[in-house]
Amino acid sequence: MIFPINNIRNDFPILHRKVNGKPLVYFDNGATTQKPVAVIKAMEEAVFEYNSNIHRGVHTLSNVCTEAFEKAREKVARFIGAAHTHEVIFTRGTTESINLVTSSFGEMFLNANDEIILTEMEHHSNIVPWQLLQKRKGVRLNIVPIRDDGTLDMETFDAFLCENTKLVTIAHISNVLGTVNPVNEIVEKAHQRGIPVLIDGAQAIQHLSVNVTDLDCDFYAFSGHKMYAPTGIGILYGKEKWLNRMEPYHGGGEMIKHVSFKGTTFNELPYKFEAGTPNYTAAIGLGAAIDYIESVGLVNIREYENMLFDYAISRMSEIENVTFYGTSAHRTSLISFLLNGIHPFDTGTLLDKMGIAVRTGHHCAQPLMKRLNIQGTVRASFAMYNTCEEVDALINGLVKVRQLFG
Ligand code: PMP
Repeated sequence: MIFPINNIRNDFPILHRKVNGKPLVYFDNGATTQKPVAVIKAMEEAVFEYNSNIHRGVHTLSNVCTEAFEKAREKVARFIGAAHTHEVIFTRGTTESINLVTSSFGEMFLNANDEIILTEMEHHSNIVPWQLLQKRKGVRLNIVPIRDDGTLDMETFDAFLCENTKLVTIAHISNVLGTVNPVNEIVEKAHQRGIPVLIDGAQAIQHLSVNVTDLDCDFYAFSGHKMYAPTGIGILYGKEKWLNRMEPYHGGGEMIKHVSFKGTTFNELPYKFEAGTPNYTAAIGLGAAIDYIESVGLVNIREYENMLFDYAISRMSEIENVTFYGTSAHRTSLISFLLNGIHPFDTGTLLDKMGIAVRTGHHCAQPLMKRLNIQGTVRASFAMYNTCEEVDALINGLVKVRQLFG
């Protein structure tokens, strides 16, 4: 199949703008992706044609809006292969999804000296919530180290698994190293001991075909804005058996069945975890983003992005004095690197002058930076609309940066 790159690029108007007088080359997709017209149109239609609070009214607009919102939930459920639509909870994003588990699962099932396994390559949003829980409850955090190639030290992971382990929480793909973690193996090993697994899919859902039922994970978290959908919407997938037993996260409207001062009963799934008016416009946008991804085909996207990734790696290897961070054979979608002797901030700033957007810094992964013994990296992260010509522009830009620094 010929990948319809020109049509795709035309669907993202922002890609045609200039930055600092140069055509935009957007390689900061790991932070957030751009939005196709179809997503904006779906949201525009929702706002202009049927905006109304959901689940509340008997009137037509409310019913139409509710239907569109629930349809978006069905799309997400199908997209990730959830067994039940009510296992899909709308949140603000990955961060809130993880905090929901920390809070609701943590309150219910974790006690002093229980152990949680996480890894050295986690994003702060899969570290700090657990540290807050550690303060509240005295749980212990066991951190799986990484090897020099950016893969997990699975022997230590195996050694950590014990009868005190009550949860494993891990990134599917590292936002710094690009490493695709062996989540199937991790789930299998944890489940052999009856330990549930939470997967942070923020960097995976837009690149890999994720099927939570095949994967058999207990929770899977991701953000809409990294998969061509708007900001302010995300998903927590959770197995019914856990969600039903967990305490609600936030209290308020929508999440109750009956409220009295004698005692309140809670709504059924998924509403029990969706207190207050949700960002239904963004949820509808997320549904449209899924339609868009499916219209291109995740398998085609993956094949194309792999080609782009391989091309970028081979071209970057031509540049002298580059250090790559993350060299696992199982990595994808992003490249973290340093031009030796040049601060990543300088590289990023100079590239920006050439219209090239990359991310620089610690990428919300300071413990990983400490392990790598650096302050930060430059990160180029790819999406389905990037091209080999843009990779060439990046390479030319890096050569110029190197020249400027002598
Ligand atoms: N986890 C990973 C691996 C991420 O890359 C990110 C975003 N950089 C997050 C969590 C947090 O996502 P959000 O800010 O959308 O909640």
